[in-house]
Amino acid sequence: MRAQRGLRQGQPELAAATKVAIDELFALIAMNTVSRAGADDCLSQIAMRVEDEGASVWLCPFDGGRNLIAHFGDRRPGGLMLAGHVDVVPVTGQSWASDPFEPRSDQGRIVGRGSTDMKGFVACCLALNDEIKATSRCRPVTLCLTPDEETAFRGAKALPEQLRELDIVPGAAIVGEPTEMEIAVRHPGFLDMTTTFHGKAAHASRKDLGVSAIQAAAAFVSHLYELDAQYADAGVQFSVGEMRGGSARNIVAENCTLDWEIRHTSAALGEEVKVALASFQSPNSARRFDQPLVTVPGLSMSKDACPSWLATWIGDRAMSSMPFATEAGIYYGAGIPTLVMGPGSIAQAHRPDEFIEISQLMACLSTLCGLLRHLSKETTERA
Ligand SMILES: [Zn+2]
Repeated sequence: MRAQRGLRQGQPELAAATKVAIDELFALIAMNTVSRAGADDCLSQIAMRVEDEGASVWLCPFDGGRNLIAHFGDRRPGGLMLAGHVDVVPVTGQSWASDPFEPRSDQGRIVGRGSTDMKGFVACCLALNDEIKATSRCRPVTLCLTPDEETAFRGAKALPEQLRELDIVPGAAIVGEPTEMEIAVRHPGFLDMTTTFHGKAAHASRKDLGVSAIQAAAAFVSHLYELDAQYADAGVQFSVGEMRGGSARNIVAENCTLDWEIRHTSAALGEEVKVALASFQSPNSARRFDQPLVTVPGLSMSKDACPSWLATWIGDRAMSSMPFATEAGIYYGAGIPTLVMGPGSIAQAHRPDEFIEISQLMACLSTLCGLLRHLSKETTERA
């Protein structure tokens, strides 16, 4: 089966869709979504917009915000989910050539916070409204947008259950994080931890009366870097980013806190590493408290996991790995085969003067359009 072609370079249709996507992207960037409140306003506006276009729309609350679920078509299972986030990282301390929330067009690029991570993808989805509606007559299409991916992933974690409650069962999902439109099926997960050691203060001349939290923390850091070497070939990395402890040079440190992280390629490996961590022996009687902050599973999916319409669309396209964590591992873990594929490069994300090439928006429109048409055709042929 030949994959359906999308919008092609030089076609007036693609030029028109690109213009709409650029307008949508300008509007999205102009909404400052660094904060939770900003992301909620942005989602509410998108909700109104897609409801007018005929979608069934829900703003589903979770502890920390609301997810937008916009469903086109009936409730038969096996449709396509297009997923992303509308929050962006802060601009504090970054030196921008212009206002990050006043988008501008410059030499074939759109510059502004969130242009590449990942409002460009969201803009393309909004610009393809007519194609989505056409496909949804054969198979449902669901747009899912979350508000806190850059902080805690709570929206993404709540989403699978929210979909179940609405009786929406996607056959596969595309997370539009920036991959320059490559298909990514593997990425690491991570675990952010804060570990605190509590010892006992004493005069430094009477160390025998105290318990040094810094000594225990230093031994723990060594243990982490031993594990880092031990698990390097398995793709697990440890990194201690911050260490805070003690109160004065001549006092045995009562407290010491470490902020650290594990990056790993699979949830199973993450669990194995947690067991290895439990084997740490403190050199003294300082007590240790681990507080997991954010846990995000990795993604590792093969083409066999994809529904047939997606596998035939992938065909012999390359499937690659990305070095950064996304929501995809969460959705795949909840039983939804998920690819990461979106416009723009991660190299431009989170930086001052973040931009997306207009050619990337065009590639995204063309590819998504091809996928939507392929889904319609496969469904009609199999009916
Ligand atoms: Zn992102």
